[in-house]
Amino acid sequence: MHYVSTRAATPAASQAPQQFSDILLGGLAPDGGLYLPSEYPQVSGAELDAWRSLPYADLAYEILKKFATDIPDADLRALTRKTYTAEVYRNAREGESAKDITPLRVLEKDGAKTLILQALSNGPTLAFKDMAMQLLGNLFEYTLAKHDAELNIFGATSGDTGSAAEYAMRGKKGIRVFMLSPHNKMSAFQTAQMFSLQDPNIFNIAVEGVFDDCQDLVKAVSNDLPFKVRQKIGTVNSINWARVVAQVVYYFRGYLAATTDNSQKVSFTVPSGNFGNICAGHIARMMGLPIDKLVAATNENDVLDEFFRTGVYRVRKSAETYHTSSPSMDISKASNFERFVYDLVGRDAERVRALFHKVETAGGFDLSGKPGSDGDEFKLVAQYGFRSGRSTHADRVATIRDVQDDYDITIDTHTADGVKVAREHMEAGVPMIVLETALAAKFNETILEALGTDAPRPAGFEDIEALPQKYLVMPADVAQMKAYIATNTGL
Ligand SMILES: *Cc1c(COP(=O)(O)O)cnc(C)c1O
Repeated sequence: MHYVSTRAATPAASQAPQQFSDILLGGLAPDGGLYLPSEYPQVSGAELDAWRSLPYADLAYEILKKFATDIPDADLRALTRKTYTAEVYRNAREGESAKDITPLRVLEKDGAKTLILQALSNGPTLAFKDMAMQLLGNLFEYTLAKHDAELNIFGATSGDTGSAAEYAMRGKKGIRVFMLSPHNKMSAFQTAQMFSLQDPNIFNIAVEGVFDDCQDLVKAVSNDLPFKVRQKIGTVNSINWARVVAQVVYYFRGYLAATTDNSQKVSFTVPSGNFGNICAGHIARMMGLPIDKLVAATNENDVLDEFFRTGVYRVRKSAETYHTSSPSMDISKASNFERFVYDLVGRDAERVRALFHKVETAGGFDLSGKPGSDGDEFKLVAQYGFRSGRSTHADRVATIRDVQDDYDITIDTHTADGVKVAREHMEAGVPMIVLETALAAKFNETILEALGTDAPRPAGFEDIEALPQKYLVMPADVAQMKAYIATNTGL
């Protein structure tokens, strides 16, 4: 299995064929594109039948094997079995089995219409990012050990990504994590989750500034190429291909758990930000999984909803990005969207390059086919099953209340955006699965507003704010940041 860049002009002009392990530790392709497999592996009906009874870890192995052909089978199986255990994904609700890893809960059966929640947030940081990040931690450790190499992960977070990365990498040999977050800007729960880690390979840096200052620091340090190479700096952001593949697995799992034979279809609604999660759904569908609709749910930051309604992709300036009560979906552009556009324009890398050049120069592109637009591929979007919808703070609060009243379950703000939009797209005979992207305890402020009571906390998180915290406060200063990294890596 080889990988190509979404912007590589011709296969011959791209660099040597890249395998899974080659792109595992990197980010963007050298030409600025994103990696995708040269073709999507296909799944047969017989395979789907055989996979119905597999434990999650073994299903993950079967799917990953199709993409990571350069990792020996026995090693890959050991890695998935180490990752997807009931101990790691232990925060299942009462009545659910942690062994299922991503248990389904049927919320509603209204005649032939069925609304289902797929729990993806039972991992250590209570958000779906653990599903991929835990695997990434084990894959990184395995690959680095093979080459006797080390890696220093350097990133910025406003909450979910940073904590998922730290819990995945803590205690891992050959890996250090330097994670920047805006000082005093995260919720008390999120702060406690990250800063209470005492592992010597985890470095939490609270930057005096806002999230954009943190991101600017990461960019400034990473743009110093000699420093980056000497310090062996890497990232784990949402364009990482291995993260996307790990997410493909739970679409298969959700489908297989919601159906009894392969003639049935299901739809998924996905609370979306950077388009990483739903991109995995697109890939599952391209592999032959019988997915009917893929519904992108956005909050007030509706870049994606606008595209799927009109064919116009218009990125926002950071000043136009709203701070909402589903903050992990507050994005100005969707970093994985280019992967879908590549397929949409018939895998024409030159078109992709031109379109995303236009994003840089003109703030977006228009595929509506209207006079003066950049193309007419919007007419093909429906073929790929995509739909979308938008949700606001008022919708979120009302949906959290509804779901609590009707089904006695507390959902988080992002999942609420999903449920709100899913209800607008339900069809008879096709179960609608909403991906639960976080547990409510992480976003308690809005739960209090909606319900007047605190969100339930999983066991072990009761007094997390009272734990001793280890972190460093630092001004947004590039030189000081570099010095701190160099001192702690000893490189
Ligand atoms: C990251 C995140 C999202 C958005 O996922 P994308 O892959 O960026 O689309 C949604 N909800 C929660 C809780 C998240 O942490």
